[in-house]
Amino acid sequence: MPICAICGEREGITRDHVPPKAIFPRPRPANLVTVPACPECNNGASDNDDLFKVFLSMQAAGNNEIATRLFQEKTVRTLERNQSLLTAIRRESTEAEVVNNQGHLETRTGVLWNSAAHDAVIERTIRGLYFHHSGSQVPNDANLSVQWLHGVPEEMLPNIHLLNEVVLGDNQVTYKYIIYENDPRHSLWLFDFYGAHWASGHTSPIYP
Ligand SMILES: [Zn+2]
Repeated sequence: MPICAICGEREGITRDHVPPKAIFPRPRPANLVTVPACPECNNGASDNDDLFKVFLSMQAAGNNEIATRLFQEKTVRTLERNQSLLTAIRRESTEAEVVNNQGHLETRTGVLWNSAAHDAVIERTIRGLYFHHSGSQVPNDANLSVQWLHGVPEEMLPNIHLLNEVVLGDNQVTYKYIIYENDPRHSLWLFDFYGAHWASGHTSPIYP
């Protein structure tokens, strides 16, 4: 029995999607990634996955047709079932004037993400993809940290060709990564969700 790709401790008797399948409306892309996961890591993550889906789809709806469907077909239903989340989102949303592509001012609703749920989903996704691409869990003596991005950092652009790129579905999720061969405790991950939300993470050695 394989060991869980996420915790690296218990037996991975289920398969878990990384990134979570909640963020893809049907029909889902054919090339979604699954990894062995223990029931605790798999089932314990669904609340965060739901929150991630809600905030991502609110940010990305209108950006492309699939993100709009994600909002209409899944998020609306989640918010109907979860009135306290809906109330919290209404309370924390802010209206902002932004300049659109045509150079005109327009009012957009800014939504404050639940950052704990966001970071938990990105961390689990990195752990799963690390296993998927390397065949081993993130080493025990490596730290994993997650960063929010407003786009790909400019200082990374000269080296971006060094990263491997994977596209899930019809550009719903694109990620770039590198796991350093000479010390696999070092790895770097960049995510683009629906062309509307970016996140990154890296693993690095824990020095005593
Ligand atoms: Zn686990």
